[in-house]
Amino acid sequence: MRIAISACLLGIPARYDGGTKPCPAVISLAEEPGVEVVAVCPETAAGLPVPRPPAEHRDGRVVFADGGDATEAFERGSAACLEEVLAAGVDFAVLKAKSPSCGAGRIHDGTFTGGLVDGWGTFAALVRDAGIPVLSEEDVERTVASARRGESCDESILALVCRALGLL
Ligand code: SF4
Repeated sequence: MRIAISACLLGIPARYDGGTKPCPAVISLAEEPGVEVVAVCPETAAGLPVPRPPAEHRDGRVVFADGGDATEAFERGSAACLEEVLAAGVDFAVLKAKSPSCGAGRIHDGTFTGGLVDGWGTFAALVRDAGIPVLSEEDVERTVASARRGESCDESILALVCRALGLL
């Protein structure tokens, strides 16, 4: 099984603030025998530095907090990472929730105040549109927790996560 995973969820310091967001449930998944990981970071793939100003989606563009336009860089890095995950033939992706690149379904609202809106990060949308299922680390955490409580994992991809972790 091959899984594309946001680099910061694996502990790689790729975030805008120079930090990382290691997620134990995702790292466990990545370390399972038989799981191959394709670590991706569309923002650093675009050549953006670490650290860099935070960015959010606003009015159909991606803007940096300092006022610069990040749209082209986000699109370029996302396209490069999509090529990589397509070439690898990943089964699904686990991408960092709420990120302007990796967020799936909910992202920051463009005000840089912590608010959220329905929406997709630039890279997550490309992965979704390529037909690859996209989960967040929160989905993985929820799935692992419910499987450990003995509850079933109904959705096929979440069941796949459970199988990869030996929970089904
Ligand atoms: S672009 Fe994605 S992988 Fe890179 S730091 Fe942001 S959330 Fe993590």
